Amino acid sequence: MNKQRLLERFLQYVKINTTAIEDSGNYPSSPGQLEIGKLLVEQMIAMGITDAQQDQWGIVYGTVKGNVEGAPVIAFNSHVDTSPETTGNLVNPHVIEDFDGKDIILSGDPSQIITVDDCPELAGAAGKTIITTDGKTLLGGDDKAGVAIIMELANDLLENPDIPHGDIRIFFTCDEEIGHGVDHVDIEAINATVCYNFDGGGQGDIDEETFSADMAIITFTGVNTHPAYGKDKMVNASRAAGHFLANLPADLSPERTEGRDGFLHPYTLEGGVAQATVKVLIRDFDTQQLGKHADILQTTAAKVEECCPGTKVEIEIIEQYRNMADGLVNEPRAVQYAVEAHERLGYNYKRTIVRGGTDGSRLTELGLPTPNLSSGQHNIHSPLEWACLDEMVAAVEVGKELAKRWAE
Ligand SMILES: [Zn+2]
Repeated sequence: MNKQRLLERFLQYVKINTTAIEDSGNYPSSPGQLEIGKLLVEQMIAMGITDAQQDQWGIVYGTVKGNVEGAPVIAFNSHVDTSPETTGNLVNPHVIEDFDGKDIILSGDPSQIITVDDCPELAGAAGKTIITTDGKTLLGGDDKAGVAIIMELANDLLENPDIPHGDIRIFFTCDEEIGHGVDHVDIEAINATVCYNFDGGGQGDIDEETFSADMAIITFTGVNTHPAYGKDKMVNASRAAGHFLANLPADLSPERTEGRDGFLHPYTLEGGVAQATVKVLIRDFDTQQLGKHADILQTTAAKVEECCPGTKVEIEIIEQYRNMADGLVNEPRAVQYAVEAHERLGYNYKRTIVRGGTDGSRLTELGLPTPNLSSGQHNIHSPLEWACLDEMVAAVEVGKELAKRWAE
C-alpha cells in the first residue's frame, strides 16, 4: 500500500466542493458530487477497473475482479458529499507530519483552535501525520477519508495480484449527509454478500448497531377568531402544542439519555392559532420500543384534547430506518470477519453502537448487511475537523484483510 498516494488522493478529493444542499430539488444536491464522481471513475479506469461508471444519480460503481473462484462477492462503500453544517468551499488542507500532540491554532483563523481538552484523541495522534483545515471550512474527511481509503485499497489489490480475494464491488454514494445516501443505490446490481461502509471516526471501531428510527408529525387544529371576539369561540392550537410539549416525559430526551437509552425528541415547532405542528424524532435500539414511545405521544395527545377543549390532535408516524443489528443477525460473518481482520493485524478494536443512523443501517435493512468501520475522521462537520493519515492507512489494511478473509 502506498501511504503517499493515499494522502495525495485525500488532499485532491477534499478540495472539490461537495457540500450537500438541503431541499435543492436535485439529485445529487450539488454539482461537485458529480465532478468528484467523474474523477473517481477516471482514476478507477486508470488503475484497471474496467467497468467503473457513474450512473444517472451520480453514484459511482466498479469491480475489482477476484482471483479466487467461488469466493463471496463483498462490497466497500463511502459517501462523496459533505455536511451542510459547515461550508466545504475552498477547503485548504494542512498536512502536519510527526504531529506533536498539542493544541493546534488554525492558520486562516487564529480564533479556531483544536484543543486536547475538547478533543482528547488529538494527544493520541502524537507522532502521526494529521490533516487539518485552515479554520475557515470543514475538511471533508467525512467521508472523503473513506473514499481515499477504498481507492487506495482497490489500487493496492490490483497491483498485488498474489493477494487472494473474490470480486470486490466498490460504490460511492451521494447526499448521505441529508439523509438520501441510499435512495438510488442499486443493491441488486451490487449483488454482494456483505458490504463495509468506511464512514466511522478514529481507528478500530466496528459499528454493529444503530438506532431504529421513526418520526412523528403531530398536528394540532384549533379555531381562529379575532381576539376581540375570542371568548368561548377561539381554540388556540399553539397553546395546545405548548401543553403537549410540557407534558412529554423529560427523562426520555436526548438531553437526559445516553448509551442504549432511546428518546423522544421534539425538534421542530411551527404554528399559529388555527394550526400548529410539532415534529418528534422517535429513537431506540430496540425496534419494538418505538411503538411504546409512540404510545406516549398518543396518551399525551389525548390529555391535550381533554385540557384544551375543541382542539383536535392528529399523529402521523413515518418510518425512517432500522437498527443495523436487526439485519446483521442474518449474516453473522459480517461483524465476525471484521473482528478477525483487526485481530490478525494486531489492531485494537471496539464493537460499538451508534446513537443515530448510517448508510449501513439502510443498506442492511434493504438486504445488504453493512457494518460501519473507522476511517480516521475526527471533529466532523466543523472547522475544527481533522483526519489522521495513519488511521486511514490502518483502514486500508483492515479492508485488505477482509478481502482475504472472505476468500478463505
Ligand atoms: Zn459520513
